[in-house]
Amino acid sequence: MKIGIPTTLIYFSYYPLWKTFFEELGFEVIASPKTSKEILDRGVAEAVNDACVPVKLFHGHVLALKDKVDYLFIPRMVSVTREATFCPKFLGLPDMIKHSLEGLPGIIDTRIDLKKGQFELFRVCREIGKKLGKGFWVVSGAYYKALRVQKKYQQLLLAKLRPQEALDYLSGKDRAANAPGRLENLPGQPESLSRGIISSGRSVPVNLAVVGYPYEVHDSFVSVNLLKHLEAMGVKVWTAEMVPPRELRRQAKKLPKTLFWHYSNLIIRAAFYYVEQPYIEGIIHLSAFGCGPDAMVDKLIELEAREKGPVPFMTVTIDEHSGEAGMQTRLEAFVDMVRMRRGAQ
Ligand code: SF4
Repeated sequence: MKIGIPTTLIYFSYYPLWKTFFEELGFEVIASPKTSKEILDRGVAEAVNDACVPVKLFHGHVLALKDKVDYLFIPRMVSVTREATFCPKFLGLPDMIKHSLEGLPGIIDTRIDLKKGQFELFRVCREIGKKLGKGFWVVSGAYYKALRVQKKYQQLLLAKLRPQEALDYLSGKDRAANAPGRLENLPGQPESLSRGIISSGRSVPVNLAVVGYPYEVHDSFVSVNLLKHLEAMGVKVWTAEMVPPRELRRQAKKLPKTLFWHYSNLIIRAAFYYVEQPYIEGIIHLSAFGCGPDAMVDKLIELEAREKGPVPFMTVTIDEHSGEAGMQTRLEAFVDMVRMRRGAQ
Protein backbone atom coordinates (compact mmCIF):
# COMPACT_ATOMS: atom_id res chain seq x y z
CA MET A 1 0.00 0.00 0.00
CA LYS A 2 1.29 3.45 -0.92
CA ILE A 3 0.77 6.65 1.04
CA GLY A 4 1.24 9.95 -0.79
CA ILE A 5 2.56 13.08 0.92
CA PRO A 6 2.53 16.38 -1.03
CA THR A 7 5.91 18.12 -0.89
CA THR A 8 4.62 21.45 0.32
CA LEU A 9 3.05 23.09 3.40
CA ILE A 10 3.76 20.85 6.42
CA TYR A 11 6.19 18.74 4.37
CA PHE A 12 9.07 21.08 5.27
CA SER A 13 8.34 20.86 8.98
CA TYR A 14 7.09 17.33 9.60
CA TYR A 15 7.93 15.06 6.67
CA PRO A 16 10.49 12.93 8.60
CA LEU A 17 7.92 12.27 11.33
CA TRP A 18 5.19 11.05 9.01
CA LYS A 19 7.43 9.29 6.54
CA THR A 20 9.00 7.25 9.35
CA PHE A 21 5.65 6.56 10.96
CA PHE A 22 4.06 5.20 7.78
CA GLU A 23 7.14 3.22 6.79
CA GLU A 24 7.32 1.63 10.22
CA LEU A 25 3.68 0.62 9.78
CA GLY A 26 4.81 -1.22 6.67
CA PHE A 27 3.66 1.17 3.93
CA GLU A 28 5.55 2.76 1.08
CA VAL A 29 5.65 6.55 1.25
CA ILE A 30 5.65 8.51 -1.97
CA ALA A 31 6.33 12.24 -1.93
CA SER A 32 5.19 14.28 -4.92
CA PRO A 33 7.94 15.58 -7.23
CA LYS A 34 9.58 18.92 -6.49
CA THR A 35 7.48 21.93 -7.45
CA SER A 36 7.55 22.71 -11.16
CA LYS A 37 5.68 25.07 -13.45
CA GLU A 38 3.38 22.25 -14.49
CA ILE A 39 2.49 21.39 -10.88
CA LEU A 40 1.84 25.04 -10.05
CA ASP A 41 -0.25 25.64 -13.20
CA ARG A 42 -2.40 22.59 -12.52
CA GLY A 43 -2.95 23.74 -8.95
CA VAL A 44 -3.83 27.28 -10.02
CA ALA A 45 -6.35 25.93 -12.53
CA GLU A 46 -8.15 23.80 -9.92
CA ALA A 47 -8.01 25.83 -6.70
CA VAL A 48 -10.44 28.55 -5.70
CA ASN A 49 -9.35 31.94 -7.01
CA ASP A 50 -8.78 33.73 -3.75
CA ALA A 51 -6.56 31.04 -2.19
CA CYS A 52 -2.95 31.99 -1.48
CA VAL A 53 -0.20 30.63 -3.76
CA PRO A 54 0.94 27.85 -1.34
CA VAL A 55 -2.60 26.47 -1.12
CA LYS A 56 -3.02 26.58 -4.91
CA LEU A 57 0.29 24.80 -5.19
CA PHE A 58 -0.89 22.15 -2.74
CA HIS A 59 -3.69 21.30 -5.18
CA GLY A 60 -1.06 20.79 -7.90
CA HIS A 61 0.96 18.44 -5.71
CA VAL A 62 -2.15 16.41 -4.90
CA LEU A 63 -2.89 16.08 -8.61
CA ALA A 64 0.68 14.91 -9.21
CA LEU A 65 0.21 12.14 -6.63
CA LYS A 66 -3.39 11.06 -6.86
CA ASP A 67 -3.02 8.28 -9.43
CA LYS A 68 0.12 6.81 -7.88
CA VAL A 69 -1.02 6.12 -4.33
CA ASP A 70 -3.71 4.31 -2.33
CA TYR A 71 -4.05 7.04 0.27
CA LEU A 72 -3.21 10.71 0.44
CA PHE A 73 -2.07 12.09 3.76
CA ILE A 74 -3.76 15.47 4.20
CA PRO A 75 -4.24 15.95 7.95
CA ARG A 76 -6.35 18.75 9.29
CA MET A 77 -3.64 20.75 11.02
CA VAL A 78 -5.22 22.61 13.93
CA SER A 79 -2.38 23.12 16.39
CA VAL A 80 1.01 21.81 17.43
CA THR A 81 1.38 24.07 20.47
CA ARG A 82 -0.99 25.31 23.13
CA GLU A 83 -0.73 28.95 22.14
CA ALA A 84 -1.83 29.13 18.49
CA THR A 85 -3.61 27.40 15.64
CA PHE A 86 -2.73 27.02 12.00
CA CYS A 87 -4.18 29.57 9.60
CA PRO A 88 -7.77 28.93 8.42
CA LYS A 89 -6.59 27.67 5.06
CA PHE A 90 -4.72 24.84 6.75
CA LEU A 91 -7.80 24.03 8.80
CA GLY A 92 -9.98 23.73 5.74
CA LEU A 93 -7.43 22.07 3.48
CA PRO A 94 -8.85 18.51 3.45
CA ASP A 95 -12.33 19.88 2.61
CA MET A 96 -10.96 22.22 -0.04
CA ILE A 97 -9.14 19.33 -1.72
CA LYS A 98 -12.09 16.94 -1.55
CA HIS A 99 -14.44 19.47 -3.08
CA SER A 100 -12.10 20.89 -5.73
CA LEU A 101 -10.55 17.72 -7.16
CA GLU A 102 -12.11 14.59 -8.58
CA GLY A 103 -10.91 11.00 -8.76
CA LEU A 104 -8.99 11.12 -5.49
CA PRO A 105 -7.84 8.00 -3.64
CA GLY A 106 -8.65 7.60 0.08
CA ILE A 107 -7.70 10.61 2.20
CA ILE A 108 -6.25 10.39 5.69
CA ASP A 109 -7.54 13.67 7.05
CA THR A 110 -7.11 13.04 10.78
CA ARG A 111 -7.41 16.14 12.92
CA ILE A 112 -4.13 17.10 14.59
CA ASP A 113 -4.83 19.32 17.56
CA LEU A 114 -1.95 18.91 19.96
CA LYS A 115 -3.08 21.60 22.38
CA LYS A 116 -5.52 19.01 23.71
CA GLY A 117 -2.75 17.38 25.72
CA GLN A 118 0.62 15.71 25.75
CA PHE A 119 -0.68 12.32 24.56
CA GLU A 120 -2.66 13.74 21.69
CA LEU A 121 -0.06 12.93 19.03
CA PHE A 122 -0.04 9.32 20.16
CA ARG A 123 -3.84 9.27 20.00
CA VAL A 124 -3.68 10.69 16.47
CA CYS A 125 -1.21 7.98 15.46
CA ARG A 126 -3.47 5.33 16.99
CA GLU A 127 -6.41 6.68 15.03
CA ILE A 128 -4.44 6.56 11.77
CA GLY A 129 -3.11 3.10 12.61
CA LYS A 130 -6.64 1.80 13.25
CA LYS A 131 -7.85 3.20 9.95
CA LEU A 132 -5.03 1.36 8.20
CA GLY A 133 -5.61 -1.87 10.12
CA LYS A 134 -2.58 -1.77 12.44
CA GLY A 135 -2.54 -2.85 16.07
CA PHE A 136 -1.44 -1.07 19.23
CA TRP A 137 2.13 -2.40 19.45
CA VAL A 138 2.99 -1.77 15.82
CA VAL A 139 1.64 1.78 16.09
CA SER A 140 3.53 2.38 19.36
CA GLY A 141 6.82 1.26 17.85
CA ALA A 142 6.28 3.39 14.75
CA TYR A 143 5.32 6.40 16.87
CA TYR A 144 8.48 6.31 19.02
CA LYS A 145 10.75 5.79 16.04
CA ALA A 146 9.05 8.65 14.17
CA LEU A 147 9.56 10.97 17.17
CA ARG A 148 13.26 10.12 17.29
CA VAL A 149 13.75 10.81 13.58
CA GLN A 150 11.80 14.08 13.81
CA LYS A 151 13.98 15.20 16.73
CA LYS A 152 17.11 14.46 14.73
CA TYR A 153 15.69 16.44 11.80
CA GLN A 154 15.07 19.45 14.01
CA GLN A 155 18.60 19.23 15.38
CA LEU A 156 19.96 19.25 11.84
CA LEU A 157 17.91 22.36 11.01
CA LEU A 158 19.25 24.09 14.11
CA ALA A 159 22.74 23.06 13.00
CA LYS A 160 22.02 25.24 9.92
CA LEU A 161 21.16 22.63 7.35
CA ARG A 162 18.34 23.56 4.99
CA PRO A 163 15.30 21.23 5.10
CA GLN A 164 16.21 19.42 1.87
CA GLU A 165 19.81 18.97 3.05
CA ALA A 166 18.59 17.61 6.37
CA LEU A 167 16.23 15.21 4.59
CA ASP A 168 19.04 14.06 2.31
CA TYR A 169 21.26 13.59 5.32
CA LEU A 170 18.64 11.53 7.14
CA SER A 171 18.10 9.36 4.09
CA GLY A 172 21.85 8.83 3.78
CA LYS A 173 22.10 10.64 0.42
CA ASP A 174 24.27 13.45 1.68
CA ARG A 175 26.70 11.10 3.37
CA ALA A 176 26.91 8.73 0.42
CA ALA A 177 26.91 11.02 -2.58
CA ASN A 178 27.92 14.43 -1.49
CA ALA A 179 31.30 14.08 0.18
CA PRO A 180 32.43 16.35 1.65
CA GLY A 181 28.76 17.15 2.36
CA ARG A 182 27.63 20.58 3.43
CA LEU A 183 27.59 19.23 6.96
CA GLU A 184 31.34 19.67 7.03
CA ASN A 185 31.10 23.17 5.50
CA LEU A 186 28.30 24.68 7.49
CA PRO A 187 28.55 28.29 8.62
CA GLY A 188 29.84 28.43 12.17
CA GLN A 189 29.32 31.40 14.39
CA PRO A 190 28.92 34.65 12.49
CA GLU A 191 32.07 36.67 11.90
CA SER A 192 32.69 39.22 14.55
CA LEU A 193 31.58 42.57 13.22
CA SER A 194 29.33 45.21 14.58
CA ARG A 195 26.44 45.84 12.29
CA GLY A 196 27.80 46.95 8.94
CA ILE A 197 31.38 47.60 10.05
CA ILE A 198 34.31 45.43 8.98
CA SER A 199 36.84 45.79 11.72
CA SER A 200 39.62 43.65 10.30
CA GLY A 201 39.56 45.07 6.76
CA ARG A 202 38.94 41.56 5.43
CA SER A 203 36.05 40.93 3.13
CA VAL A 204 33.26 39.67 5.37
CA PRO A 205 30.16 38.32 3.61
CA VAL A 206 26.93 40.24 3.94
CA ASN A 207 24.71 38.53 6.51
CA LEU A 208 21.01 38.66 5.73
CA ALA A 209 18.07 37.03 7.48
CA VAL A 210 15.37 35.62 5.22
CA VAL A 211 12.13 35.05 7.07
CA GLY A 212 8.98 33.51 5.66
CA TYR A 213 6.93 30.35 5.90
CA PRO A 214 9.10 27.27 5.29
CA TYR A 215 6.94 26.18 2.36
CA GLU A 216 7.82 29.47 0.62
CA VAL A 217 11.44 30.01 1.60
CA HIS A 218 12.58 26.41 1.08
CA ASP A 219 10.67 25.62 -2.08
CA SER A 220 13.09 26.97 -4.66
CA PHE A 221 10.45 27.17 -7.39
CA VAL A 222 8.03 29.16 -5.23
CA SER A 223 10.74 31.46 -3.89
CA VAL A 224 12.12 31.89 -7.41
CA ASN A 225 15.49 30.65 -6.19
CA LEU A 226 15.78 33.48 -3.68
CA LEU A 227 18.30 31.70 -1.44
CA LYS A 228 20.47 30.61 -4.37
CA HIS A 229 20.52 34.13 -5.84
CA LEU A 230 21.58 35.60 -2.51
CA GLU A 231 24.34 33.04 -2.05
CA ALA A 232 25.58 33.68 -5.59
CA MET A 233 25.95 37.36 -4.53
CA GLY A 234 28.16 36.33 -1.62
CA VAL A 235 25.48 36.63 1.03
CA LYS A 236 25.38 34.45 4.11
CA VAL A 237 21.72 33.59 4.63
CA TRP A 238 20.11 33.02 8.03
CA THR A 239 16.64 31.53 8.20
CA ALA A 240 13.97 31.13 10.87
CA GLU A 241 14.76 27.42 11.37
CA MET A 242 18.24 28.33 12.66
CA VAL A 243 16.93 30.26 15.67
CA PRO A 244 17.14 28.21 18.90
CA PRO A 245 13.74 27.50 20.52
CA ARG A 246 14.70 29.27 23.77
CA GLU A 247 15.36 32.46 21.79
CA LEU A 248 11.99 32.15 20.08
CA ARG A 249 10.38 31.85 23.51
CA ARG A 250 12.25 34.94 24.68
CA GLN A 251 11.13 36.95 21.66
CA ALA A 252 7.51 35.87 22.26
CA LYS A 253 7.42 38.17 25.28
CA LYS A 254 8.00 41.25 23.17
CA LEU A 255 4.52 41.38 21.72
CA PRO A 256 1.65 42.13 24.10
CA LYS A 257 -0.33 39.31 22.51
CA THR A 258 0.41 36.04 20.75
CA LEU A 259 -0.78 35.95 17.15
CA PHE A 260 -3.46 33.40 16.34
CA TRP A 261 -1.39 31.56 13.75
CA HIS A 262 1.39 29.09 14.43
CA TYR A 263 3.74 29.77 11.51
CA SER A 264 3.23 33.54 11.79
CA ASN A 265 4.39 33.45 15.41
CA LEU A 266 7.49 31.52 14.40
CA ILE A 267 8.62 33.92 11.73
CA ILE A 268 7.79 37.06 13.66
CA ARG A 269 9.86 35.80 16.61
CA ALA A 270 12.70 34.76 14.34
CA ALA A 271 12.67 38.20 12.68
CA PHE A 272 12.69 39.95 16.07
CA TYR A 273 15.63 37.78 17.11
CA TYR A 274 17.59 38.70 13.98
CA VAL A 275 16.87 42.41 14.45
CA GLU A 276 18.79 42.10 17.75
CA GLN A 277 21.81 40.33 16.26
CA PRO A 278 24.67 42.72 15.46
CA TYR A 279 25.91 40.61 12.53
CA ILE A 280 22.60 40.77 10.66
CA GLU A 281 22.73 43.60 8.15
CA GLY A 282 19.31 43.28 6.58
CA ILE A 283 16.08 41.33 6.75
CA ILE A 284 14.05 40.04 3.82
CA HIS A 285 10.50 38.93 4.43
CA LEU A 286 9.23 36.54 1.79
CA SER A 287 5.48 36.81 1.63
CA ALA A 288 2.85 35.08 -0.49
CA PHE A 289 0.25 36.99 -2.46
CA GLY A 290 -3.16 36.31 -0.96
CA CYS A 291 -1.85 35.48 2.53
CA GLY A 292 -4.09 37.06 5.17
CA PRO A 293 -1.80 36.64 8.22
CA ASP A 294 1.15 38.15 6.35
CA ALA A 295 -0.58 41.53 6.17
CA MET A 296 -0.05 41.84 9.92
CA VAL A 297 3.20 39.91 10.17
CA ASP A 298 4.90 42.06 7.56
CA LYS A 299 4.00 45.34 9.27
CA LEU A 300 5.11 44.12 12.70
CA ILE A 301 8.51 43.02 11.36
CA GLU A 302 8.94 46.28 9.48
CA LEU A 303 8.20 48.36 12.59
CA GLU A 304 10.57 46.30 14.74
CA ALA A 305 13.35 46.55 12.13
CA ARG A 306 12.91 50.32 11.93
CA GLU A 307 12.59 51.05 15.64
CA LYS A 308 15.07 48.62 17.18
CA GLY A 309 17.70 48.61 14.46
CA PRO A 310 17.39 50.34 12.27
CA VAL A 311 17.98 47.32 10.07
CA PRO A 312 17.33 47.51 6.31
CA PHE A 313 14.14 45.62 5.58
CA MET A 314 12.53 44.47 2.35
CA THR A 315 9.37 42.52 1.60
CA VAL A 316 9.33 40.30 -1.45
CA THR A 317 5.85 39.15 -2.41
CA ILE A 318 5.60 36.12 -4.62
CA ASP A 319 2.68 34.94 -6.69
CA GLU A 320 2.13 32.44 -9.48
CA HIS A 321 3.59 34.91 -12.02
CA SER A 322 6.80 35.78 -10.19
CA GLY A 323 9.79 35.72 -12.51
CA GLU A 324 13.49 35.12 -12.05
CA ALA A 325 14.64 38.47 -13.55
CA GLY A 326 12.40 40.57 -11.31
CA MET A 327 13.51 38.68 -8.22
CA GLN A 328 17.20 38.98 -9.09
CA THR A 329 16.97 42.72 -9.74
CA ARG A 330 15.30 43.40 -6.42
CA LEU A 331 17.79 41.26 -4.50
CA GLU A 332 20.78 42.87 -6.21
CA ALA A 333 19.46 46.34 -5.40
CA PHE A 334 18.95 45.38 -1.75
CA VAL A 335 22.35 43.75 -1.35
CA ASP A 336 24.06 46.73 -3.07
CA MET A 337 22.29 49.09 -0.70
CA VAL A 338 23.43 47.03 2.31
CA ARG A 339 27.03 47.07 1.01
CA MET A 340 26.93 50.84 0.42
CA ARG A 341 25.57 51.33 3.91
CA ARG A 342 28.41 49.25 5.29
CA GLY A 343 30.92 51.32 3.27
CA ALA A 344 29.41 54.61 4.52
CA GLN A 345 29.65 53.45 8.11
S1 SF4 B 1 -0.34 31.36 6.36
FE1 SF4 B 1 -0.71 32.56 4.51
S2 SF4 B 1 0.51 31.55 2.93
FE2 SF4 B 1 0.25 30.08 4.60
S3 SF4 B 1 -1.55 28.89 4.07
FE3 SF4 B 1 -2.24 30.57 5.40
S4 SF4 B 1 -2.86 32.19 3.98
FE4 SF4 B 1 -1.60 30.73 2.83
